[in-house]
Amino acid sequence: MQFKDIIRQDAVKKNLIQTVVTDRISHAQLFHGKLGYGSFALALAYAQYIFCSQKTPEDSCGECASCLKIGQLSHPDVHFSFPVQLEAKKKTSDDFLPSWREMIHRSPYASEQDWYHHTGNENKKGLIGVDESKRIAEKISLKSYEGGYKVSVFWLAENMNAAAANKLLKLIEEPPEKTLIFLVAESIESILPTILSRTQLTKIGPLSDSQVVEGLVNKMGASEQRATEIASYVNGDFSAALNELEMGEEKSFYFDNFVSWMRLCFKKDVAGAVKFVAEVQKMGKEKQKAFLLFVLSVFQKSLMGNFVGINHVKATEEQKKFIQNFMPYIHERNIGHLHEIMSEAYYHIDRNANAKILFLDLSFDLFKLIKK
Ligand SMILES: [Zn+2]
Repeated sequence: MQFKDIIRQDAVKKNLIQTVVTDRISHAQLFHGKLGYGSFALALAYAQYIFCSQKTPEDSCGECASCLKIGQLSHPDVHFSFPVQLEAKKKTSDDFLPSWREMIHRSPYASEQDWYHHTGNENKKGLIGVDESKRIAEKISLKSYEGGYKVSVFWLAENMNAAAANKLLKLIEEPPEKTLIFLVAESIESILPTILSRTQLTKIGPLSDSQVVEGLVNKMGASEQRATEIASYVNGDFSAALNELEMGEEKSFYFDNFVSWMRLCFKKDVAGAVKFVAEVQKMGKEKQKAFLLFVLSVFQKSLMGNFVGINHVKATEEQKKFIQNFMPYIHERNIGHLHEIMSEAYYHIDRNANAKILFLDLSFDLFKLIKK
């Protein structure tokens, strides 16, 4: 993976390159930001840049032996750890490496949920356990194969349990020579403060809507119109954008669901809500989150429509038709409350709340809130 393959994040790239050029590479680094913003992709391109034998001031060459091996995720001195769904005989990332590699090859922006989907078990969260930390400690205490650095990359380091984290802390405190540890994390609340304080932080923020469009059009060949529509509700998360794109050009899945939901909320249709909620539960966690963001974005567009007129709202023609009728029901007296319940719902879904209960509660709130 070369820096040029990653959508934007120009300032981050520049800083990372600078550490190599000036020979100030920290031995423990934290890449904090969603995978869909490019946090892992950047860590990988950085490792490749460090190893590349023909690097330029802008990028790795992409062609030398090191670049090729890292590109295939099979460099003997670059190790990957990621959350796994433990089984009796499968306890470390090595046991799942071919499958994980396959997913990353398809998309270096792949999300945690993509990973569980890929393993065929979406309902169980993975873990980086103590066996994994032991394995890494062993690997990096050996001499490097090629005489240079040894790098250990933790994909979603926040999924480390306490025993693994303590073992890792020891490695960070007393690192073997020429060892680099890169932690990639979407959230840092559950990472040991003692680890945080010993790592160099690189923060990676969301892409702008236009950068998401650029990525979808240039990398995926999406139409400008479809890309713009998707970018308007994925909040700068390219993995969410890719999932959206995969769901098909024709069907606006979230929009159709949104329309059905609002119709039954208008009618205060309890039986309809129960049925709807059962369908939502089948979506799975990531889609539920994306759906909530989508709903929120339509609320905002409706409010905007009231102020500037429907023709100035960014939406497809079909959506505009609906929003035009819907927008009298969204105004400054309910938007604050709507925003609050949607954001709260997102928070709880993200932490594995029961989707059935949550969306039913939301429906009852909407029964009361959506009115002129
Ligand atoms: Zn190279």
